[in-house]
Amino acid sequence: MIAENIARVREKIAAAARHAGRDPQDILLMAVSKTVSPEAIREAYAAGVRLFGENRVQEFQAKSSALANLSSTQWHMIGHLQSNKAAKAAELFSAVDSVDSLRLAERLNAAAQSMGKKIPILIEINIGGEAAKSGLPPDGGELEEILQAAPRLENLSIDGLMTVPPFTEDPEQSRPFFRRLCELRDAINARNLPGVSMRTLSMGMSHDFSVAIEEGSTCVRIGTAIFGERRI
Ligand SMILES: *Cc1c(COP(=O)(O)O)cnc(C)c1O
Repeated sequence: MIAENIARVREKIAAAARHAGRDPQDILLMAVSKTVSPEAIREAYAAGVRLFGENRVQEFQAKSSALANLSSTQWHMIGHLQSNKAAKAAELFSAVDSVDSLRLAERLNAAAQSMGKKIPILIEINIGGEAAKSGLPPDGGELEEILQAAPRLENLSIDGLMTVPPFTEDPEQSRPFFRRLCELRDAINARNLPGVSMRTLSMGMSHDFSVAIEEGSTCVRIGTAIFGERRI
């Protein structure tokens, strides 16, 4: 079942890429395995998935020993991360795709430094300006502060932007938000800021990833369409 779901998602990724005149190889598939059992994660691994997203430090920590022998996997943190859990996250995850404050970036940088590693991060943008959602405003001061701090955040590499647009049944409604995130990424890159070079646009989930790919996504985060509806 999971293997078939993954095959179907891969076909849709390829179709959306072709439709947009893009190379399907330029789009990474991330399986979002929050709430999913290690057994189901193994099935996704057997089907060729190597990139996984989790949204809670504690949940992943509990599962990680059961998954330790899956080689060449990348585990990204994609959920809201409190600064006081930055060190734990830096230890457990290969990347943090949900950096939403300068304070968190600084904590991650310090943790990475003490571990002697460099952690790839994405800055999460609240592109729809929703009060209940995490992420930085696209036009606010804190995004600028993180970009300006990049040269001293030596143990982070700021690789791009991530967003979750306002939920709508109709994926076409997500299109303007995806487009805006892509424009924001391009505008940042055009400034040639020291230490900032953004290649990744992490956008698109189960219901709207085809539209996200048409608007430039380089990483789609898929949970439900691979593992089925989450019960919690
Ligand atoms: C849960 C989650 C996803 C996956 O959502 P689906 O609709 O199940 O594909 C993607 N991104 C983030 C940040 C999530 O929390």
